[in-house]
Amino acid sequence: MTALSALPPVITWPLAMVLAAVFGSFLNVCISRLPHGESIVAPPSHCPRCGVPIRAYDNIPLVSFAVLGGRCRACRAPISWRYPLVESLAVVAGALVLWQLGPTWDGLRAFVLVLALIAITFTDLEHQMIPDWITLPGILAGLAFQLYPSPWAVLDGLLGCLLGGGIFYLIAWLSPKVFGQEGMGGGDIKLAAMMGAFLGWKVVLVAIYVAVLVGGIGGGLLLLLGLRRFGQHLAFGPFLALGGVAAALWGRPFLSWYFG
Ligand SMILES: [Zn+2]
Repeated sequence: MTALSALPPVITWPLAMVLAAVFGSFLNVCISRLPHGESIVAPPSHCPRCGVPIRAYDNIPLVSFAVLGGRCRACRAPISWRYPLVESLAVVAGALVLWQLGPTWDGLRAFVLVLALIAITFTDLEHQMIPDWITLPGILAGLAFQLYPSPWAVLDGLLGCLLGGGIFYLIAWLSPKVFGQEGMGGGDIKLAAMMGAFLGWKVVLVAIYVAVLVGGIGGGLLLLLGLRRFGQHLAFGPFLALGGVAAALWGRPFLSWYFG
């Protein structure tokens, strides 16, 4: 995306949107295969019901789902809505990043983080687990992003990683003692640590603040609507991911406005 900065917007925008859709399609492969310990490269994409390989022209992000009416060409088995949903979210994420941060290093960093958060959220929703194979390499990737333009910023990433992970480690440790039940899982700790590595220590606090706020409102609404009972466990991962997306896009402007 940094290389895109030399191009006029009339080229940058469509190119970034197409790239984002392709990345979204790759995230779908990761969400489907990695929790089962399958390779993401082999075998090539195939229909999970009839096993017929999906042809290149039937594997175009968003377009193929619409053309095929959401069904396999060979056996007419319905294709999960998660595929076009994740691809659309990747495109929306690409557009928001380009609009807020432009084709810059910061923009690329935010885009990689948001893609990781989308993959984590949908893996969590489908498999009830926050995958280590995204959060652990994610911590390293987040720290690597901090090395440019000034290598010293890596300290900010390390501090963010320790602070984000530390807060959730503390909640996980305190919850059984204070509330008599599990509060957070190890997955939440590693997810918050990854977000801290990408965002730095100040912005990760914004992410956690948003996550707690939205999680509180969301949990309250579920109680009011009778969809949850009081004290019933509510997965926090998706709220944390949402806070991470908001902070990646608007964290810095929010901080400078707040401390204005
Ligand atoms: Zn099929």
